[in-house]
Amino acid sequence: MATILDGKAHADRMLETVRQGVEVRLAKGLRAPGLAVVLVGEDPASQVYVRNKSAACAKVGITSIEHRLPADTAQADLDALIDRLNADSGVDGILVQLPLPQGLDSKRALHRISPAKDVDGFHPVNQGLLLEGLPGLRPCTPSACMSLLAHHGVELKGIRAVVLGRSEIVGKPMALMLLEQHATVTIAHSRTKDLAGICREADLLVAAVGRPGLVEGSWIKPGAVVVDVGINRVEDEILGGRIFAQEPKKLDTLRTKGGVLCGDVRYGEAMAVASAVTPVPGGVGPLTIAGLLTNALAAANREV
Ligand code: NDP
Repeated sequence: MATILDGKAHADRMLETVRQGVEVRLAKGLRAPGLAVVLVGEDPASQVYVRNKSAACAKVGITSIEHRLPADTAQADLDALIDRLNADSGVDGILVQLPLPQGLDSKRALHRISPAKDVDGFHPVNQGLLLEGLPGLRPCTPSACMSLLAHHGVELKGIRAVVLGRSEIVGKPMALMLLEQHATVTIAHSRTKDLAGICREADLLVAAVGRPGLVEGSWIKPGAVVVDVGINRVEDEILGGRIFAQEPKKLDTLRTKGGVLCGDVRYGEAMAVASAVTPVPGGVGPLTIAGLLTNALAAANREV
C-alpha cells in the first residue's frame, strides 16, 4: 500500500512559514504584504476560490484586497484597473482570477500585470526566467508540488519523470522545474501515442490533464511516485463505476450525493501499485493557495 502524500498538511507547513515571514516584516516596522485579487463576473467556482484565498490571507496576516467587476466589464476598464494596481505601492501581488468572462482576453490581462507583482507566475517574463533557471515568481501549483516532493525526500536526480499535460499553468512549468532538478522529463499530451506505455516508464508521474480517472493502475510503474493535479467532478454513475472500482466510498458518495470529486488518476488502483500518491481532494488542491501566498510574501520582500 502506497504512502499518502498529504497536501493539506504540507500546505499548513507552507502557510506557517509565510505567517512567520509576515511577522518578521511587521517586527521590522514594514507593512503586511498586500495581495489584490481581481474577480470579473459571477463564475461560482471562481467565487469559491477567491473566498478561500481571502480566508488563507487572513490566517497568515496578508492583506487581501478584492476588486469585483461585472461580467460585462470592457477590456479597457480591466486594463485600467491592472495599471492602477501596478502603480499602487500598497499592492505587492496581483491576481486576475481565471477564467475571465467571454469577450475578455485573459492573455492580454495577464501580460499587463507587472512581472514583479505577478504572484501567479504566468507573465512571460517570469515564465522566461523559469526557462533560464533564474529566480522569479513561479507558477503556484507546480512550485508547491515541488515543495511537497522535497519535503517527502523524493529523489529527482536522474529519475524518469512523466508529466501528463502541457498547459502554461501546470504541465510546462512542472516539467521545467523537474528538469532543473535533473530529472529526465517526458511531457505527454492529447496527441501522445501509447500514453499508457510512456506512463509505465515513469518513476514520477504527474497528471495534470482534467480527465477523471484517465490514469489506470496498470499505467503506473510499481513503486512510482504519483502526483495527481487534476480536480474533476464526476456525476455519471457508469463512469464512476469504472473508475472507482477500487474505491467503494467514492462510488457510494457519487450515488448518494449525485457527484464526487476525483483526480486524473484512479486513486484506489494507484495506491496498490505506487510507493506514494497524492489524494484528491486533499492533495495538490490545498497546496496551490499556499504557493500563491508564498509568492505574495516573496514579492513583498522583493526576493525574486
Ligand atoms: P488544461 O486544460 O489547460 O490542459 C490539459 C492538458 O491535458 C493539455 O495539455 C491536454 O493536451 C492534456 N490532455 C487532455 N486530455 C488528454 C488525454 N486524454 N490524454 C492526454 N493528455 C490529455 O488544464 P490545466 O493544466 O489548467 O489543468 C489540468 C487539471 O489540473 C484540471 O483538472 C484542473 O482542474 C487541475 N488543476 C488543479 C489545480 C490545483 O490547485 N490542484 C490548479 C490548476 C489546475 P493538449 O495540449 O494536447 O490539448
